Amino acid sequence: MSEKPHFHRVILKLSGESFCRERESGISMTEVSEISEEIKSVHETGTQVAIVCGGGNILRGKQFSEVSAAIHASTAHYMGMLATVINALALQDALENIGVPTRVQSAIRMEGVAEPFIRRRCLRHLEKGRVVILAAGTGSPFVTTDTAAALRARELGADILMKATKVDGVYSEDPEKNEHAVRYSEITFQNVLSQNLQVMDAQAIHHCMEHNIPILVFNFGQSGNILRAVQGKKIGTIVEK
Ligand code: UDP
Repeated sequence: MSEKPHFHRVILKLSGESFCRERESGISMTEVSEISEEIKSVHETGTQVAIVCGGGNILRGKQFSEVSAAIHASTAHYMGMLATVINALALQDALENIGVPTRVQSAIRMEGVAEPFIRRRCLRHLEKGRVVILAAGTGSPFVTTDTAAALRARELGADILMKATKVDGVYSEDPEKNEHAVRYSEITFQNVLSQNLQVMDAQAIHHCMEHNIPILVFNFGQSGNILRAVQGKKIGTIVEK
C-alpha cells in the first residue's frame, strides 16, 4: 500500500471522451489502458473506487435524436446508455488485465455481461477491494451520466464525486474559446449555478449541493492526476458549499 488515502470512498466520473483519442470518437484501448493504470494506482492506496462511465464517445441521446427524425428521443437516450456499457466492458478488461479486480454493474439489466446495480451488493464489492464500474447511467432516459454519478455518490455514501475531464478545472469562461478565462481553485455550488458555469449538468449540481457532496473537476489527461485527486492534493477545482 502506498501513502494513506485521503478519501475512504470516491465516485469517479469518466466521461466518454476519456475512452477515445482527442477529437476522435469510438474506443481506443490505448487510452483505456492508460486510464486503467491510473485507476490501479488509486486502487493500491486502499481507497474504494466506483466508476461511472459516460458514453459520449459513442453516442449522446440528445444530439442523436436531434439529427435523426426517425428515432424517438427516449430510444436515442437508451442507445446512449448502452454506449456506456460498451465503455464499461472495455474498462473492465483493461483493469483486469493489469490485476485490478472489478465488477461491472448495469442500471439496465443485462445478465450476460454485467450484474444489475444493487446498492448493497455494490458496497460489498467495494469493501472487498473491487473496483466497481457502473454502467447504463440511471437506467432512465433524458438525463446524463453526470446525474447518475451524483445519485450514486449519495447512494453509496461517497466522500467526493471526482469528475475527470479534458480541462484542468472550472473556468470563468470556456478556456478553449477565451485565453483570458480564469480557472477557479475553489467555487461554491451557488456560484456555479448563478454564473451558469459548465461543470456538470444542473441536475447533478443541485443534487450534490442539496446533499453536500463536494465535486472535484480535474484533468484526466495529466499523468498521475487521478491519484493526486484521491490523495487530496490541490489540483483542479473543488466545488463545495
Ligand atoms: N443517458 C441516459 N440516462 C442516464 C445516463 C445517460 O439517457 O441516466 C444517455 C444520454 O443520452 C447521454 C448518453 O447516455 O447523452 C451518454 O452519457 P453522457 O452524455 O452523460 O456521457 P459523457 O458526456 O459523460 O461522455
